[in-house]
Amino acid sequence: MTPVRYDAVETVARAVCHEEGSLLLLTDFDGTLCEFQTDPEQVALSPARRQLLASLVEHPRFDVGIVSGRPLGDIKSRVALDGAVYYAGLHGCEIEGPHNAATAPIDDAELPDLAEAATRLDVIAAAVEGAFVECKRQSVTLHLRATTTEDRRRAESRFHDDTRDLLARQRLRLQPGDCILELLAASSWTKGDAVIWIRRDVERRRATSVRLVYLGDDQTDEHAFAALGSDGVSVAVGPRPSGARYRLPDPPAVEHLLGRLVEDITTA
Ligand SMILES: [Mg+2]
Repeated sequence: MTPVRYDAVETVARAVCHEEGSLLLLTDFDGTLCEFQTDPEQVALSPARRQLLASLVEHPRFDVGIVSGRPLGDIKSRVALDGAVYYAGLHGCEIEGPHNAATAPIDDAELPDLAEAATRLDVIAAAVEGAFVECKRQSVTLHLRATTTEDRRRAESRFHDDTRDLLARQRLRLQPGDCILELLAASSWTKGDAVIWIRRDVERRRATSVRLVYLGDDQTDEHAFAALGSDGVSVAVGPRPSGARYRLPDPPAVEHLLGRLVEDITTA
């Protein structure tokens, strides 16, 4: 296997700041801004990283947004930035900006399938130590981070066996993530939809076009990378295969990048 090649933080910082003009920096949360924890409840944004984001939020050239799979209220309380910040929760299904908000509509026909999926995943989780199921408005997620590798493989294989007929009805879609398997209502928005919505809102507010920067570690972030446009700066975090143009190894490298951006704009 070819080893994964990471870019230098300086290279990515240059790609972000080399041109004049307004920038919209959007970032995923878990695995990108913050290290994963076995218990997702324990994931917290460090004060140093919050301060770096706050410096970008305050700078007239930047708009900043957090795009996460977590519910909107959860992500807002964990990031807790003052000022004009965008938040997108549930993979883009709930979006809130400084002046506007949007919620993806859900097709009622998908609800019984989501309920049935929840029942089936509960049965799988009950048989696997460390597994648990999370139900959100438009999705049901099987969490496997706290299981042994062997149990995870068994649970994944059972998940695919037990949900095949549900997926064949085409009212749900499968979204695999890092140690999670998620079934979403087929009509639900993606992080790419959130990127497009936020960009439009910012450009309307600023009455000018903006260049996008997006950082993410997860499979779900690929939708966002694809929505950036040709002048966007896409940054994958971690070794997962990705369509992003740049790649950084981990959340500390993301912190380093944010620090470089803050330095660049304060010395410019
Ligand atoms: Mg993530």
